Amino acid sequence: MTHNVTLIPGDGTGPEITEAVVRVVEAAGVKFNWDVQNAGIDVFEAEGNPLPQRVIESIKKNKVAIKGPVTTPVGGGFRSVNVTLRQELDLYACLRPCKAYEGARTRFPEVDIVIVRENTEDLYAGIEFKKDDENTLSLIDFIKSKIGKTIRSDSGISIKPISVFGTERIVRFAFDYARANGRRKVTSVHKANIMKFSDGLFLEVSKKVAESYPDIEFEDRIIDNMCMQLVQKPEQYDVLVLPNLYGDVVSDLAAGLIGGLGLAPGANIGTEMAVFEATHGSAPKYKGLNKVNPIAMMLSAIMMLNYLGEKDAASALDSAIAKIIREGKDVTYDMKPSPDDKTAVGTSGVADAICKILKSG
Ligand code: NAD
Repeated sequence: MTHNVTLIPGDGTGPEITEAVVRVVEAAGVKFNWDVQNAGIDVFEAEGNPLPQRVIESIKKNKVAIKGPVTTPVGGGFRSVNVTLRQELDLYACLRPCKAYEGARTRFPEVDIVIVRENTEDLYAGIEFKKDDENTLSLIDFIKSKIGKTIRSDSGISIKPISVFGTERIVRFAFDYARANGRRKVTSVHKANIMKFSDGLFLEVSKKVAESYPDIEFEDRIIDNMCMQLVQKPEQYDVLVLPNLYGDVVSDLAAGLIGGLGLAPGANIGTEMAVFEATHGSAPKYKGLNKVNPIAMMLSAIMMLNYLGEKDAASALDSAIAKIIREGKDVTYDMKPSPDDKTAVGTSGVADAICKILKSG
């Protein structure tokens, strides 16, 4: 069967990584009809919009997309393409398995954590009030009049909504994932001691949902303690469910535990469609250098193959990647003992080595 999939190469190092990924999934024997759709900074420069509607329509039609990273300007400029896609398509669950492969350079070879990040709410909702704006000053007055709290008049404000609906479905997703994948425990992560009405609600709803999954252990952790625990005893954790911002930060922390961002895959999943992408960003300083690691996006592609029901190809690609990591020869600079290691191969070299294994096997 040929799968219709939207392919978004992204920008920065995205296109070179994406090219490597396309080669290995095709070498794994799966047939694709790629609907290539560009988005990101180059499209913004050409068209004034980094995410044209045609990209969204393509994903709605194909139901599955794989995406390279896309740059988001810092502190101003256009809003994140990544966040907009997740919100527009209601891809409410960001699933990021972090498993240490044998041979990866990590102090924590036993790590096998799955991060389930809520993808549509929280401080990522994009509800922001700019310093000195008329609406911002009215909001400051409103808050003063309603609850007597003073916000300095030279403030910018970002709103953090967390709903019962949004929390219930993400926590259910985490428990359902745990059940379907033989996982033993779900940990809900929050800062409910300080943000009683947003994180407090996240915790309250987590506890309630947990009652309907008596076969899966449940616990909660405060986010700061969670970060300490993860670097000290990560083997104690299994599935973590987090609001959007903590999920983002802890995803990079967990990527560091398993050998770096070059090895951390992900998927954004909704009820009807899914967009697969690595945890890492566009690493623009390496653009065009054929240098960065394509494995994180290849592992995201394995998640896509499983989603498409291509279990054999997913398993063959996983074995080939595991072999490359175990042997440590045909890997990029970030997986070598030193980043200057002259034996490191480039992005395309990793794909060459994996295709060779797949074709011989
Ligand atoms: P980044 O993940 O792009 O890179 C941080 C560092 O991690 C790099 O300098 C590099 O040392 C390392 N790294 C990242 N990916 C790697 C890979 N594949 N192989 C080897 N090393 C790798 O993070 P950043 O520099 O904070 O962000 C750059 C841009 O990417 C920003 O505009 C940011 O908004 C965007 N971003 C996009 C996504 C996405 O598309 N989903 C996610 C995160 C960040």
